[in-house]
Amino acid sequence: MSINEYTPAPNFIRSIIAEDLRTNKNDGRVITRFPPEPNGYLHIGHAKSICLNFGLAAENKGRCHLRFDDTNPTKEDVEYTESIQRDVKWLGFDWGEHLYYASDYFEQLYQYAVELIKAGKAYVCDLTPDEVRAYRGTLTEPGKESPYRNRSVEENLDLFARMRAGEFPDGSRVLRAKIDMASPNLNMRDPVIYRILRVPHHRTGDKWCIYPMYDFAHPLSDAIEEITHSICTLEFEDHRPLYDWFLDQLETPGRPQQIEFARLNLTYTVMSKRKLLQLVKEGHVTGWDDPRMPTIAGFRRRGYTPEAIRDFCERIGVAKSNSTVDIALLEHCLREDLNKRAPRVMAVLRPLKVVIDNYPAGQVEELEAVNNPEDPQAGTRKIPFSKVIYIERDDFMEDPPKKFYRLAPGREVRLRYGYFIKCTEVVKDEKTGEVLEVHCTYDPATRGGSAPDGRKVKATLHWVSAEESLEAEVRLYDHLFNRENPDDVEEGKTFLDYLNPNSLEVLTSCRIEPSLATARPGDKFQFERLGYFCVDPDSTPEKLVFNRSVSLRDTWAKIAQQQTEG
Ligand code: ATP
Ligand code: MG
Repeated sequence: MSINEYTPAPNFIRSIIAEDLRTNKNDGRVITRFPPEPNGYLHIGHAKSICLNFGLAAENKGRCHLRFDDTNPTKEDVEYTESIQRDVKWLGFDWGEHLYYASDYFEQLYQYAVELIKAGKAYVCDLTPDEVRAYRGTLTEPGKESPYRNRSVEENLDLFARMRAGEFPDGSRVLRAKIDMASPNLNMRDPVIYRILRVPHHRTGDKWCIYPMYDFAHPLSDAIEEITHSICTLEFEDHRPLYDWFLDQLETPGRPQQIEFARLNLTYTVMSKRKLLQLVKEGHVTGWDDPRMPTIAGFRRRGYTPEAIRDFCERIGVAKSNSTVDIALLEHCLREDLNKRAPRVMAVLRPLKVVIDNYPAGQVEELEAVNNPEDPQAGTRKIPFSKVIYIERDDFMEDPPKKFYRLAPGREVRLRYGYFIKCTEVVKDEKTGEVLEVHCTYDPATRGGSAPDGRKVKATLHWVSAEESLEAEVRLYDHLFNRENPDDVEEGKTFLDYLNPNSLEVLTSCRIEPSLATARPGDKFQFERLGYFCVDPDSTPEKLVFNRSVSLRDTWAKIAQQQTEG
């Protein structure tokens, strides 16, 4: 795929839906759902599922539900239900009135379980969890039937009611579906559908001490909501026969179809909520919204836009086989979006003082700068120029190697939107040899950036006026992990061993042009030559804090170009 062109690509799910619409399978309705478990913040993999589910519904004039799959109270929390809603909305999607909780169906699910018992399709089993596992068999050996499998319907109804009433200790009994202990599919070997668990639920409190298992609650929640297309990730493919089995046994309002697609994996990061939680809990990052996290909240804080993330999700497409996407593609999508929209400003991250000896002391002049060359509507602004300015420390070298064209003794360069300056003297710390300041002269005839005599310079530097600029903190980020696939651990290590110790660099004495004084958290800019930056919520009016969202160097475009060039 060329990086500059794509049309909403056909994919196998779009085809299934188109065919269902053609045959009028669900009376022409398309109802999808995004069903997160509220046990963590959403990550970029969830964004793929959100874009897919909400996108398919919108494309087909259907609707998409947001359903909290909150059947496991030990790990769930309202903080997560709130963050999830915020993140889905921020991505640009709207569930309208269709916000649901699996916990709202607990009574209905209980009744479905009673129906199964009455039909002789479920039984209360007293085996211990270890015994249940041992009886299950293996991929090559059939399982063994539980000695409790043939309890009478009456006994099962009585025991299940008493499980609900709290008569038995946690873990002492379970309700199991009665399917086939010899099935080649392990999921069909009498799976547990209810367990006893005295853990208060964030919505139902201590009303329940039995909770339904995912494989039971999920198809039935889909059916209750009359979902037509239940889209999930590939690891549930083996669960589909069970999904269908429950729907075959029970009278339900709808008859959803489960369709599996490949989950998103991204280089240099982990995507499992368990691991992300561990990073947060153990303080390897500052929180779920740490700008290095692959969470939606992290990307938002880092300066990603919903448009960039949606574009990324469309470009990666939907397939049936798992693969890992290069994080450079995500960064490329952000650059493309911000290139169109982000105002350009000048900021100096590691300031080096430059004194322009022939410029009048005390004079400040206003130079005109273009706000965004990609957007003529964005207009221009004034930036102050004076006798003392700052340039980037690494834009000067006292002893430059051959290919270094920036400032050096005797060398002339252009200041962006300003003048040509020529280096005349270097002031160094006598003891350390550190360059303290550089002296230059400027050529008044080069105002605006070109010389009337036609002489050329090889570099244009960004700069700020020392007096008028503001101090700022800038946080530079690198990949959170230094291994392309941190889940692929070597013997005796864990994913934490691949944390990149240099993933965050904080620069506290940066200088930014004065037009940024009014910038607010979330505002995005291109710092000329340095990348795209976003104002962090930690900012105060006294001192702005910026996150670098992404540098300007587009490694993805480079790879793509090499590919087209063969
Ligand atoms: P984890 O395994 O990290 O805990 P999960 O799949 O259990 O994630 P859920 O909250 O159950 O997380 O996920 C909600 C929905 O998002 C599911 O339908 C799931 O298929 C989808 N999803 C989760 N991770 C990804 C991913 N990496 N790529 C695409 N979809 C995903
Ligand atoms: Mg899950």
